[in-house]
Amino acid sequence: MGELNEFCGICAACTPGRNACPDLYQMMKDLQHRGQAGAGMATYDPDRKRILKTHKRTGTVDEVFGGEDQGGIQDILQEMKGSIGIGHTRYGTSGSLTSRHVQPFERVHGLRGKWFAFGFNGHIANRKDLESRIKDLGYHLMLDTDTEVMMHYFSHHISGTGGELKEVFRRMSLDLDGAYNMAFIDAMGDLVVARDPWGIRPLSSIVTENGSFAASETCALYRQGTEDIHHIEPGEMAILRDGGIEYHRFAERRKRSLCFFEFIYFASVTSNLDGRSVYETRKRCGEELARIETQDINDRDWVVIPVPNTARPIANSFAKALGHPRIYEEGLIAVGKGRTFIDEGDRSAKVRRKFMPIPSVLKGKKVIVIDDSIVRSTTMATIVRYHLKEVGGAKEVHVRIATPPIIAPCYYGIDMRTFDELVASRYEEMITSGIMDEEARSCIAQKINAESLIYLTHEGLLRALGMDRNNLCMACLDRRYPTPAGQELDRVNHEHFSKSLRELPDP
Ligand code: SF4
Repeated sequence: MGELNEFCGICAACTPGRNACPDLYQMMKDLQHRGQAGAGMATYDPDRKRILKTHKRTGTVDEVFGGEDQGGIQDILQEMKGSIGIGHTRYGTSGSLTSRHVQPFERVHGLRGKWFAFGFNGHIANRKDLESRIKDLGYHLMLDTDTEVMMHYFSHHISGTGGELKEVFRRMSLDLDGAYNMAFIDAMGDLVVARDPWGIRPLSSIVTENGSFAASETCALYRQGTEDIHHIEPGEMAILRDGGIEYHRFAERRKRSLCFFEFIYFASVTSNLDGRSVYETRKRCGEELARIETQDINDRDWVVIPVPNTARPIANSFAKALGHPRIYEEGLIAVGKGRTFIDEGDRSAKVRRKFMPIPSVLKGKKVIVIDDSIVRSTTMATIVRYHLKEVGGAKEVHVRIATPPIIAPCYYGIDMRTFDELVASRYEEMITSGIMDEEARSCIAQKINAESLIYLTHEGLLRALGMDRNNLCMACLDRRYPTPAGQELDRVNHEHFSKSLRELPDP
C-alpha cells in the first residue's frame, strides 16, 4: 500500500578487534524499509582524536554512504572505523527533514562521560510536557523534533547520576511516555540498546563468534545467525560489551503493547517479532479474510491480486483458502522508486506513478484486490479507478482489507496523526469489534470506486496474530491507548473531533 510511513530502524554492533562499520552498514540496509528519509551511524574509537564520530545525512543508506560508488562506501566505512557503533534509518514522525534532524544525534562534550550519541525508534507522546520541563531547567530547543528533547534529558540525567547508565535509563523511563527503543553510545566506550516499557516497537539481539548485535528487526540479524536470537523484553536494556551482551531491567514492565501493525505492514516479511513470524501471520490474515468472503468466486471469472508488496502472502493464502489457488495473480506491479511520501506532487499522482497494472491479468475479470489497510483511502481509490479499471480493464473490483477499520490516530510513531484524515473515523459509531455496518461500508466502497469492501474483524485479526488483545497495541482500531499520554491525547482530540464531525464534508 503506501499510505502509512514508517518510523525508524535502529541497530548496534560490538565487534572486538575489528571494524564494526561494514556490519552496521549492512544492518542499516536490511532495515531500510523502516525509513528511507535519512541514515547515519556513530562509532567509537579511543585511538581517534574524535573518539566518537557520526556520519549522517538525508537519503537512503546507499546515498548517505557513497551511492553506487563502492570506493566511496569503503572510504567512509574506513574513516568511521571503530569496534563498536550504532546505526539509524529514519523516517521522521516529527520535525522537518534536514541533515540536522537525521539521527544519531551526537552531543559533543569535553568530559568523555558526557559525550554521547543516540538514535531512537518511535515517538514520544508526552513531548509537549517534556519540552516545557526541560526548558524550565534552562535547556534551549533549536529543532522541531522529539530527538532533541530526548538528547537534553539524556544530558540532564547523565549529569545527575555521574553517568551510571542503568540509572540514566531508569530516569529516562520515568520521563518518557510513548514508543522509544533507543541505541546509545558514549565516549567511554559504552554501548546500550533499550526497549520501552510497553514494548510498542520490536527489538532483538544476538551474540555470535563475530560479536554482539542488536536491531529493530530480526531481518537485520540473520546475516549473523538465525539461532539464539533474543527478543529484548519491554523495559529491558542490553549492554553490548566485549562481544557479549548483558541484559538489565531498567524500567518497571508495563502492559505489553506490541504494535499489531508491525506484523501486517511495517516489519519485513522475513522478520520474527517477539517469537512470531511476520510471514505466517500475514498468511493467516488471508485465511481469516477467506472465512468472511461473501462473493461466489470461481476459477473462470475471478482473479485475486495483492497490492504489492506486503499483501502478497495475504492474497496468496486467501486464494488457497477459498479453494482456488490458481486465481492468485500479480496484477499490479510496484514500479516507482521508494515510498510515495518521498515524491513530489499530490498523493494521487504519486500513487499513479508508483504502480503499473498488468492488463492481460485484469481485462474483463472480476478482481479481488487485497491490501493490508486503508488509512486515508487515496491510495486504494487511485488503484481501483485508474490502475485496475481504467488501464487494466477490470470488470469489477472488490476490495478486501487485512485489518479492521482504522478509526483513530497513532501517537506512537506512525504517520496518521488526526481523526480527520482517516476515512473510517467518522463511522466509529457504526463499527463493532471491527465489523462495520453495511451502510458505512458501501459509503467507503463508493469513495474508492469498488463494487464491494470487506475488512478483517478484530476477532479474525487476533486469531491471525495468535495473540491476546492485552499483549498488543491496537489503539488505532479501538482507541484503547496503552500509555497515559496516549489516553490523554485521545480524550482531547476525540472530543474536538466529535464536535467538528457535523462540519465535515459528506463522505
Ligand atoms: S496506535 Fe496503531 S499504529 Fe500506532 S502503535 Fe498502536 S497499533 Fe500501532
